[in-house]
Amino acid sequence: MSEPNEEQTVLQSVPTGLFIAGRWRAAAAAQTFTVEDPATQQPLLEVADARVDDALEALAAAWEAQSRWAAHPPRERGEILRRAYEQLIARQDELALLMTLEMGKALSESKAEITYAAEFFRWFSEEAVRIHGRYMTNATGSGRVITMRQPVGPCVFVTPWNFPAAMGARKIAPAIAAGCTMVVKPAHQTPLSMLALAQILERCGLPAGVLNVITSSRSGEVIEPLLKDGRTRKLSFTGSTQVGRKLIEQSASKVLRVSMELGGNAPFLVFADADLDAAVDGAMVAKMRNVGEACTAANRFYVHESLAPQFAAQLAQRMRELKVGRGTEPDTQVGPLIDGSQRGKVQELLQDALDAGAKVLTGGNAMRGAGYFFEPTVLSEVPPGARMLAEEIFGPVAPVATFSSEEQALEAANSSEYGLVAYLYTRDLARAFRVAEGLETGMVGVNQGMVSNAAAPFGGVKQSGFGREGGFEGIDEYLQTKYVALAL
Ligand code: NAP
Repeated sequence: MSEPNEEQTVLQSVPTGLFIAGRWRAAAAAQTFTVEDPATQQPLLEVADARVDDALEALAAAWEAQSRWAAHPPRERGEILRRAYEQLIARQDELALLMTLEMGKALSESKAEITYAAEFFRWFSEEAVRIHGRYMTNATGSGRVITMRQPVGPCVFVTPWNFPAAMGARKIAPAIAAGCTMVVKPAHQTPLSMLALAQILERCGLPAGVLNVITSSRSGEVIEPLLKDGRTRKLSFTGSTQVGRKLIEQSASKVLRVSMELGGNAPFLVFADADLDAAVDGAMVAKMRNVGEACTAANRFYVHESLAPQFAAQLAQRMRELKVGRGTEPDTQVGPLIDGSQRGKVQELLQDALDAGAKVLTGGNAMRGAGYFFEPTVLSEVPPGARMLAEEIFGPVAPVATFSSEEQALEAANSSEYGLVAYLYTRDLARAFRVAEGLETGMVGVNQGMVSNAAAPFGGVKQSGFGREGGFEGIDEYLQTKYVALAL
């Protein structure tokens, strides 16, 4: 028999069962589902397919562990997180390979995501020991206001496929730091990175029941009963606005604390006084990070009419030079899209823009052969009514439209039901602040095409959701304030 290659070795090391109460086990109905490589459309692994009974057992484990975990010394909670950070960094190469196999993005991008995910464990290892309340004299001087910050309780986390490790890390790390237990359900396309992460946390000494992971091909069926069970105290969801709305409704029956990290439609504004080369560099990052499959992806480029032809031409040149291929190949810069339905949606939005009069400067086609590849594409003269200016593209397509005044740019940027992030390029400091204040988004990148940072509060407004992940604010999502009135 031949020696297993690197990919086989990595796949063989991943646990494929459900992780419940500190034990790895098969689904009760012994069912599995297949995880596919989007670059080859070949099966990678079979993982356990949880049903409602499995999900409820996971919640029971989280419930049972909650009070002990809340009382666990904060320093030790932090040290588990610190060890997880170190393990993620030490095993970065193999974890990145696993992620590329299931999600498709280039290895360099998967490595960057492992670093980003690890940073949340490091950041919240430091926050675990800084949870504090306050002590205050009443305005009348006759009593005291005392507040204490306590863990919210068992949480349910539902995460998407586009950042298979980081979207979970942004929830799991602060929940552990705050003293909450949890049930996590990753997306069916990319469960392997989450299973590997659970194994790392187990090996770092996380007590049984604190983290429970269920993989399932029936997300709606397994999540709803958890949200309607009185033992659940919080839902944190990252995914589409459409599913988010449904889960907010389901959370109403037990009045859960809810955090929502939903869809985006980021505008990227280039003003007449911008450094054009820097704007093109930033556009490449904002558009092409994660094959364009990021909630923070620049979805609409609004460029001052004096710069637009040059900006679009330079962007098209850079996009043309990108190497598309299987993410595991060392020189690949752009991997495949996640699946056929995502690629179909990109094609549909592109066709709509072309029908409305947009011009293709480069790309424009799905690529032939195995894998869900799509050519990096730049469109110019995209008219205001085109659907891709209003809907999330989630692919490597950059539509360029123009504006003639600052007011017009701001109005176009804000004409969306989404409000996650916006990017702006200008050399004028006053304009940068004026526009940043006027943008209806939770985050703004000024002269930079990426905002993600474990030390910063990530999150949106409008239909991009509510709640913040990372920064000092990140742990607040997992704490509730109790006020004690003291007579003196
Ligand atoms: P999605 O279809 O909403 O799925 C997200 C998660 O929800 C997956 O785990 C999915 O499981 C699960 N799910 C789907 N239907 C459900 C239901 N009825 N009940 C309970 N769970 C359900 O989104 P996606 O396509 O995976 O991810 C892309 C979206 O996420 C984009 O809109 C993107 O902007 C958004 N996103 C937002 C952020 C942010 O921080 N704001 C970050 C990343 C991504 P299954 O797939 O297994 O069904």
